[in-house]
Amino acid sequence: MICLTFDTDYMSQEDLKKFMDVYSLPGKVTFFAHEDFPFLTATNHEVGPHPFITDLSTWEATTERIAKDLQYKPRGIRTHSCVFSHMIGIGLGKLGYTYISQDQHLFQAGLKPFRHPWGIWELPIYYMDNMDFYTSKNWSAIGHVPFNRDVITAAVAHEGLYVFDFHPLHILLNTPDHAYYSSVRDRVVGKRVSPFDLRFEGRGVGEFFMELCDAMTENGERSYTCMEALRLSDCVSTEDPAG
Ligand SMILES: [Zn+2]
Repeated sequence: MICLTFDTDYMSQEDLKKFMDVYSLPGKVTFFAHEDFPFLTATNHEVGPHPFITDLSTWEATTERIAKDLQYKPRGIRTHSCVFSHMIGIGLGKLGYTYISQDQHLFQAGLKPFRHPWGIWELPIYYMDNMDFYTSKNWSAIGHVPFNRDVITAAVAHEGLYVFDFHPLHILLNTPDHAYYSSVRDRVVGKRVSPFDLRFEGRGVGEFFMELCDAMTENGERSYTCMEALRLSDCVSTEDPAG
């Protein structure tokens, strides 16, 4: 079961809308949004908050600020940089969240949702675009090659949960590596240049993402929202709304 998930970091309303117009997503997906995108909550995709937590003492207010703006009460969450702690887990349980998706087990088969002791589920991450290319940079001795097609083949061919975490920003930039992202980051984040105008020509996140979508279509696989995955895994009741 494949869950395509997207973190909206640094995307403007206009560019994320254009992203949705340009890319036809294979199935239902989950967006973790750093702010409300009203056009998203009007679709049948799932939306949850993606708070940038820089101070653990204010994590709840930072999270609730986004959640309150969404058009419905979110069931799941992914924090920026996957910030998590036991304290946050306890707090999320009290706030009524059903799950978080932040635990990273990159490229590992056989994943499935698991229970945090704090009353919320975890949907572990199988693939994250920036972690893929950062692994090449920070573990240069192991010869890691990002955007490996075997990662896609394993996900479409095998049983289990495959949560893909993409950033529309990296898809649009077609980010190939850390160096390219560093070279354009100030223009995107500081000067608000559209990532549509800064696309890298060559092999990068965007090309890999399209290969995944094509492989899913060819194999008759569609994406499920995280809440759908929890229902299909018998973690929550089938009566539960998809979120
Ligand atoms: Zn993020």
